[in-house]
Amino acid sequence: MDKKDNKKGFKIPVVIFYILILLVIFLVWLWLVPSAGKPTYKEISYSEFITMLNEDQIEKVELTNTYITIQPKDLDKKKPVYYRTGMLVVEDTDLVKLLIEKGVDFRSPIETSTLWLSILQLVVMMGIGVAGMFIIMRIFSRRMDAGVMSFGKNTSRIVGEKSTGKTFDDVAGQDEAKQALREIVDFLENPGKYTEIGAKLPKGALLVGPPGTGKTLLAKAVAGEAKVPFFSLSGSEFVEMFVGLGASRVRDLFKQAVEHAPCIVFIDEIDAIGKTRDTMFGGNDEREQTLNQLLAEMDGFDSSKGVVILAATNRPEVLDKALLRPGRFDRRIIVDLPDLEGRKAILAVHAKGVKMDEDIDFDAVALATAGASGADLENIINEAAIRSVRDGRTSVSQEELLSAVEAVIAGEEKKSTVLTEAEKKTVAYHEIGHALVSALLTHTEPVSKITIIPRTSGALGYTLQTPKEEKHLMTRREAIEEITVFSGGRASEEIVFGEITTGASNDIEKATSIARAMVTRFGMSETIGFVNIDSRQSLYLGDGTSSDCSDETAREVDREIRTIIGDCYSNAKRLLTENREILDSLAAILIEKENISGKEFADLLEKKGIHLEPGKTGA
Ligand code: ADP
Ligand code: MG
Ligand code: ZN
Repeated sequence: MDKKDNKKGFKIPVVIFYILILLVIFLVWLWLVPSAGKPTYKEISYSEFITMLNEDQIEKVELTNTYITIQPKDLDKKKPVYYRTGMLVVEDTDLVKLLIEKGVDFRSPIETSTLWLSILQLVVMMGIGVAGMFIIMRIFSRRMDAGVMSFGKNTSRIVGEKSTGKTFDDVAGQDEAKQALREIVDFLENPGKYTEIGAKLPKGALLVGPPGTGKTLLAKAVAGEAKVPFFSLSGSEFVEMFVGLGASRVRDLFKQAVEHAPCIVFIDEIDAIGKTRDTMFGGNDEREQTLNQLLAEMDGFDSSKGVVILAATNRPEVLDKALLRPGRFDRRIIVDLPDLEGRKAILAVHAKGVKMDEDIDFDAVALATAGASGADLENIINEAAIRSVRDGRTSVSQEELLSAVEAVIAGEEKKSTVLTEAEKKTVAYHEIGHALVSALLTHTEPVSKITIIPRTSGALGYTLQTPKEEKHLMTRREAIEEITVFSGGRASEEIVFGEITTGASNDIEKATSIARAMVTRFGMSETIGFVNIDSRQSLYLGDGTSSDCSDETAREVDREIRTIIGDCYSNAKRLLTENREILDSLAAILIEKENISGKEFADLLEKKGIHLEPGKTGA
């Protein structure tokens, strides 16, 4: 890397820094040195003063209200010693006469204001403050980046990987994303083919998807497939840096990339720098500079050289529009959470290096992990492997795999939270409430486990429902029944204890969000109708929804949500009241055993004369 070029960007701060240091030193010197070189004053009595005056030993006097300063005739210039005596309380009316007679130069000082001194002190203090800040900043920045000390050599982290060693085979599922990226691989392998025709390939592609879905992995796989170097930088790295550093990094990154073309430049978490610039509260200068530099670089380089920029984000909606303009990140590649097949494939990829029992059934695991990301699944395999080591086994069993699913998705079993007998009873009735309501309804998912062993995630117990198959659509009936199942826990508590607890907060949250979605997004409410009210702001994080409807509509929406949930809750209560005897006996069994499997649950219900539909027996 060219050092000279790097220093250019930092000349000004360095110069300012040294000037400030010099200034501070100068001011401190100004303040301290005069007092150090100040003459000494020897105190004498008034009569001694008069004697000196009479003996013609005095050159000059200076009179103030309180004292007289005397300069003797034999003053040693190198080590001046003046004399001082207090002004007499009784007025010495003859003094002036005597001074004139002896030809002594005398005067009273003109009132000098202390203002100058104060200003001087203030400036010195400020100077010291600024210097202190600089020193602190330097210490901090040095900690952030070992290279900052020498300002120019801060590129230590931009390291290109010669080869990432990843290929598309390492990425399971994500076929659409892979298809889109193959084109880029082809372009990197033989750019001539495209430039001959005059086709301009996109300079950059944006990988969009929730965390852990393999965006970074895909970017590496592109580089690996095309056998080109991989330069990566993470957006969050810029955020806490010195002003100007981010921009210089971007410059360096592109400089290196052009030198090593063809290659891949990967900017992870681009939303950290690429947030839309016109925020209400004014911008973040550093981020803006970095973003502007990025835009400038992207416009500036010639894509025929074979540099492709990939960026990843899970918040595409916050990105500055300028980034998405044609000629920049104009391609969007969606990297979504894996579906059933995808999950199976990902499990298989990560199970390759792990010893597994012969009878491992990934289908069951994939079914139980709807909504899990690739990273979660990788974690599940690893967790299962750790568990089998803990169990003293040499290969992973299906059981360990499933308990790893629970641990990763619901949190580890927590042995230390001990429930009191009363709490245990409440939790048991709550969970059986969910399970029984689910069993009594027809469009619900089968119960595969009921437990009252607390989890590290904070859940005191839970009822696990595993879908029979991957679902893509949800009917109104199913949504209503799901809310009813969520109400079952609280309803059971109310019926049995006549008192309710805080244990239902999570259920309430989920039930409300389903009901809200039914009303505002899926047009499933008759009063509101076939209308979208909710304008989703964040596609993946789920927060920050804002609606742009009238207050009246908002009120109506709220009323409608309450009606839906209210009806579901009453229904759950009715079902449980009608089956109170079964509720009691199942709760007693759960309190005793702490865990009930789906199969056991179905058998118990069978004995009570409730026949579950085929497929809901939780086998
Ligand atoms: P992202 O960048 O989207 O947050 P990563 O690419 O860092 O996610 O993925 C994290 C890990 O999850 C990867 O290292 C990989 O092991 C695993 N993973 C995610 N998606 C897949 C997939 N489709 N196939 C195989 N492994 C995956
Ligand atoms: Mg990533
Ligand atoms: Zn509950």
